[in-house]
Amino acid sequence: MQDVVEKVYEQVVARNRGEVEFHQAVHEVLESLGPVIAKHPHYAEGALLERIVEPERQIMFRVPWVDDAGQVHVNRGFRIEFNSALGPYKGGLRFHPSVNAGIIKFLGFEQIFKNALTAQGIGGGKGGSDFDPHGRSDAEVMRFCQSFMTELARHIGPSTDVPAGDIGVGGREIGYMFGQYKRLRNSYDAGVLTGKGLAWGGSLVRTEATGYGTVLFAQSMLATKGESLEGKKVLVSGAGNVAIYAIEKAQQLGATPITFSDSSGYVVDEAGVDLELLKQVKEVERGRVADYVERRPGARLVTSGSVWDVPGDVALPCATQNELDGDAAATLLRGGCGVVSEGANMPSTPEAVEAFQKAGILFGPGKAANAGGVATSALEMEQNAGRTRWDFATAEAKLTGIMADIHDSCVAAAEEYGRPGDYVLGANAAGFTRVADVMIAHGIV
Ligand code: GLU
Repeated sequence: MQDVVEKVYEQVVARNRGEVEFHQAVHEVLESLGPVIAKHPHYAEGALLERIVEPERQIMFRVPWVDDAGQVHVNRGFRIEFNSALGPYKGGLRFHPSVNAGIIKFLGFEQIFKNALTAQGIGGGKGGSDFDPHGRSDAEVMRFCQSFMTELARHIGPSTDVPAGDIGVGGREIGYMFGQYKRLRNSYDAGVLTGKGLAWGGSLVRTEATGYGTVLFAQSMLATKGESLEGKKVLVSGAGNVAIYAIEKAQQLGATPITFSDSSGYVVDEAGVDLELLKQVKEVERGRVADYVERRPGARLVTSGSVWDVPGDVALPCATQNELDGDAAATLLRGGCGVVSEGANMPSTPEAVEAFQKAGILFGPGKAANAGGVATSALEMEQNAGRTRWDFATAEAKLTGIMADIHDSCVAAAEEYGRPGDYVLGANAAGFTRVADVMIAHGIV
């Protein structure tokens, strides 16, 4: 790391003690900026780097709620409004027991550059709570969401900050939060949240967008080598929204996804995933991956090791941060994997990324490869602002175009800074320079 960048990193570590995921995300971006600053030293002037690593605003609040047995619980709510150079803060809300300030900050920081790559005029933010929706009744989830929104409502708005879903937050939660926002404000601001239901301002393709985009990105990377996904064996981790629609798009492009996972283990289905059954189990029944195996002859549940122990051509980590470490990367490479496209945010550890890059395989980092979700959120905002609705084909064509542009921007930036084929450098350099140019234009704010 260059001296100037190293100093900024040290300050981040000192100022944000113990927030290891945030340190990791900042390190990964700053490391890429060496060649950018060497070529354009003005990016290190005016404390621009110091400003970009400091959130514009951090909100932390109490979320009290009452369970079905009458017991009172207290969770912690977060919204980190990281950077508004390019547009209103935009990013999801995560409800998961692991959530803390450092995790929300890492996600918010990633979101700045991801959103810049989409070129849709959206700033970066993230939020959530350490609330665990698993095993909670609909009524409990509703009361939690209402309490959460009672505080959040004063900080957000269609031109200010536009939250959406992430892990643990889907259509049900967005519905309860939108209902409470509308009631508090006495205003039908459809554009205040994205990921809404289709009957009340949602966009077609938003549900599918992150998973679809991750696979489209893999397809674009393969195309640079004159290859495609056709006939490839695909390993997917996770069994949420991103994983399910990555599997769907991979199948549409002629590949065979054979795995998925949740916290109870991973499933190997050598015949190819039965997508209808997986949707029934996870989307309709909110069940576990074991329920799939019970109803699918030939599929097996493995409760030790990880999905990355299975040999395959393409890996799509779609579960959570740091789910794929250096050992897993070595195992994947030994198994013949030649493409990794990240559906989750920061799923590969720095050791894993290093192993992939050393081996020279195609590696698409999350901030580029999973940007299709937030890009389609921006399309939802666009439809809300115009009080219009596009059909599926129109929305999907726009998503496909945006993913192709992101891919090409990464390729061009990697070439410009002397490391052709390095999508990590490409994504970080292209995302950073777009945000930095506008921060310079806006002055010291
Ligand atoms: N949570 C998603 C992400 O990580 C989507 C955010 C959004 O749609 O605002 O990008």
